[in-house]
Amino acid sequence: MKQFAIRRLYSFFETNSEEIESCSFDEKLEALDEEMKALLAKYGLKAINHDTRFVPLAKMSAKKCDRCDNLMINRDKNPARFNKEDLWIDLDSEYNSIIWDGGTHEGEDLCMECLPIEHRWGYFSCGA
Ligand SMILES: [Zn+2]
Repeated sequence: MKQFAIRRLYSFFETNSEEIESCSFDEKLEALDEEMKALLAKYGLKAINHDTRFVPLAKMSAKKCDRCDNLMINRDKNPARFNKEDLWIDLDSEYNSIIWDGGTHEGEDLCMECLPIEHRWGYFSCGA
């Protein structure tokens, strides 16, 4: 049975409103896209589409885990997470763990993997 294997690649960089408004990283990303297309073609893959979405850090209580650098949303500060908004639904930890759940423990903002199990957002207590 023939099938299409569609592969997604997620990556991120940190930016701010001024850079977004001035499009200061557009040239760099266009060069990256060209190199990615060539690299994918080398391995027999065809680039189809990409997009860039912006997650406002303070508004969403999003950050990098203080221990491991996983992207996370501090659920102690933002219990609603993305509110299941379509724009970000694929980033949700329920789907593919691009942005992990996390919380605050002893003054550190930690992702669900770094939190102790007994913390509400610790790995083994999520979804239970
Ligand atoms: Zn972590």
